Formats: sequence, structure tokens, C-alpha cells
Amino acid sequence: MILGIIEHDGVQLDPYGLQMLTFARDLSARLNTSLEAVLIGKSAESSGEQIKNFGISKVHLIQHERLEHYAPEAWAESVIQLLADKKADLAVAAGTERGNELMAHIAAKLDLPLASNCSEISHGDGLEITRLRWGGSLLEETSLRDNVKLLTLALNIVEAQESSANPVDFEAFTPTLEDKDFRVQLSGREENTAEGVTLKTASLVVGGGRGVGSAEGFKVLEELAECLGGVVGGSRVATNNGWRPHTQQVGLTGNRISPKLYIACGISGAIQHLVGCKAAKNILVINVDREAPFFSKADYGVLGDLHEVVPALISEIKKVQ
Ligand SMILES: Cc1cc2nc3c(=O)[nH]c(=O)nc-3n(C[C@H](O)[C@H](O)[C@H](O)COP(=O)(O)OP(=O)(O)OC[C@H]3O[C@@H](n4cnc5c(N)ncnc54)[C@H](O)[C@@H]3O)c2cc1C
Repeated sequence: MILGIIEHDGVQLDPYGLQMLTFARDLSARLNTSLEAVLIGKSAESSGEQIKNFGISKVHLIQHERLEHYAPEAWAESVIQLLADKKADLAVAAGTERGNELMAHIAAKLDLPLASNCSEISHGDGLEITRLRWGGSLLEETSLRDNVKLLTLALNIVEAQESSANPVDFEAFTPTLEDKDFRVQLSGREENTAEGVTLKTASLVVGGGRGVGSAEGFKVLEELAECLGGVVGGSRVATNNGWRPHTQQVGLTGNRISPKLYIACGISGAIQHLVGCKAAKNILVINVDREAPFFSKADYGVLGDLHEVVPALISEIKKVQ
């Protein structure tokens, strides 16, 4: 049996968790085994409603009075107990920061290998796996042969796809936890108060980097995003300089975006930035330097000063709106 561990915010399931469920559903069919989902925390049940559209018939709700907030060792211990109880032979989570951390704790505690950020899996003697390393610039081929296999799925490798709606059986599971499992735990949360479309879900993102020059310079990018119904993101230079909040950073240490169109303005295309936008369906790069690496990843390119190109673009768009 495969257990798919899904993150949630108490209301919605994490979109990467839904990608993972889609992948795990296909994997379970190929391995001829069942797939059951795992949600952690008291508020999990309401978010779990979404799961019925992903062809899952059973959801294990790990509940414990101290598990409401993220505590990596306690979460790991809980999943380990569930794995043993259900005799599951494979556990998979999305390769988010948290998913990778949780699975690494489980692997360390069980002394099992973990294949993180997997992109392809085939079945031989064990599992033959391709995984993304170095932010996706290196593909590694690896095999897992242990009886219990631990995986995380690289982000934006598959699109989340609903299947037939199933009645879902929610089964509570209460782990036995000790104080030592709570050495590290979340002590507070600052909610992002932005409403509506977010970087994670936007179908159009306008990104700005050092070439934008200042916080003020982003106004024109905001205007472009607004007239196309998109949102603004930034490179690490833009966030480190305080031109944009860190929550808007795109890249290895920021958001992974997958819009239909990413308009990258004054961004050179460093590998750490490309990791964050490589799932974009189309990329339009605006840059003054024809040697900028981003052009080699672009579907469309404009060689020019963004301070001239972006206002010209806005003016043309407004003519047809
Ligand atoms: C561990 C680690 C993690 C990192 N994580 C991230 C991450 O998550 N996200 C991220 O973005 N970076 C990340 N970085 C930093 C990354 O390596 C680059 O330094 C950064 O992406 C560069 O940002 P930039 O493209 O805005 O700036 P630059 O590389 O300086 O590029 C600026 C570009 O703007 C162009 N330009 C200048 N003026 C104009 C103009 N008027 N019009 C048009 N174009 C113009 C220039 O030609 C140039 O190509 C990370 C680095 C490390 C080591």
C-alpha cells in the first residue's frame, strides 16, 4: 500500500500535494497496489473534503492534541507509527521544504534511504527512479530496493488532475508522542494577507530583477500585471534590496511558479531563479543584454530597456482592451 502525505492549511490542500496524489495514483495503478492519503492535524478533516475528487477512498487523519502546528520530529514519529500500523510499503510526499524535511526525519529514524525530488519512477527489481538534483540542473538515476520505500515528488512535474469522485472513508489515527518529539515546533505564523490570485496559482506572472532598479521601478510591472490579470514576482536581488517582499521571490529559495506566461524583466536567468519558473508554459524575457542566459530558456525575447518596453507593452494592451 502507498501512503500519500499531504500538506494543508486547514481549509485547502496544498496544490503540490494534489500533484503528488495524481502521481501516486498512477504509480499505485502501475504497482498494482492501493493508495491512501494521510492528513496531519485536527483541522485536517475539512480540507480533506477535496480529496474525494482525486480518486482516494481512504484518508488517515493523524490527530493529537499537540499536532496542530508543524513539529517535524513529532510529525515524522506519527507517520512512522501509521506506516507500521497499516503495513504500508511506500510513503510519498510532495518535495516542498516541509515534505522533504518530514521525509528526511522519517528516513533517519527508520534508517531507510529516501529518494527526494523524484521526477520519474519505473518498476524493476525495486523502484528505478530519476530525481532532480542541484535545483534540477542534474538528473540522477537511482534505485530503491528496501522493503519500505520513501519518496518525495519534485514540484510541478505533473499537473494535478482530478479523477472520478469517490466516497471517502476518514479514519482517525492517534499516535503516541513524547515531549522529546516536540523539540522543534512551529511557534507562530504570519499569514500572507494578500487576497485573490497568488504567485503559486497565477496564470500570469510579471517578474522583475536588478534591471528594474528600485522599488519605484516596479510600479510599471504592477501595472502590466494588473492589466493582464496577473501578479508580480521578483528575483532574489529584488527581494534582498527590499524592492519586493520576500514572499514574492521566485526561485530555489522562493516560490515555484507555473503560470501560462512568465514575463521576466531585467532578470539575468541565474540557475537559482530558473528553478522557480521552469514550469512556466511560456517565458517572455525582456533584457538589455543579448548574452543574458535567460534568453536561452525563453520562448519569446525582447532585447531592450524594460523601462521603455514595458510601458509600450501596456499602451498596446490597453488599445485592445
Ligand atoms: C543558495 C542560493 C539561492 C538562491 N536563490 C535564489 C532565488 O530563489 N531566486 C533568485 O532569483 N535568485 C536566487 N539566488 C541568486 C541568484 O544566483 C542570482 O544572483 C539572482 O537571481 C540574480 O538576480 P537578477 O537576475 O535580478 O540580477 P542580475 O543577475 O544582476 O541580472 C540583472 C539583469 O538585468 C538586466 N538589465 C539591467 N538593466 C536593465 C534594463 N533597464 N532593462 C532590461 N534589462 C536590464 C541585465 O542585463 C541583467 O541580465 C540564489 C543564490 C544562491 C547562492
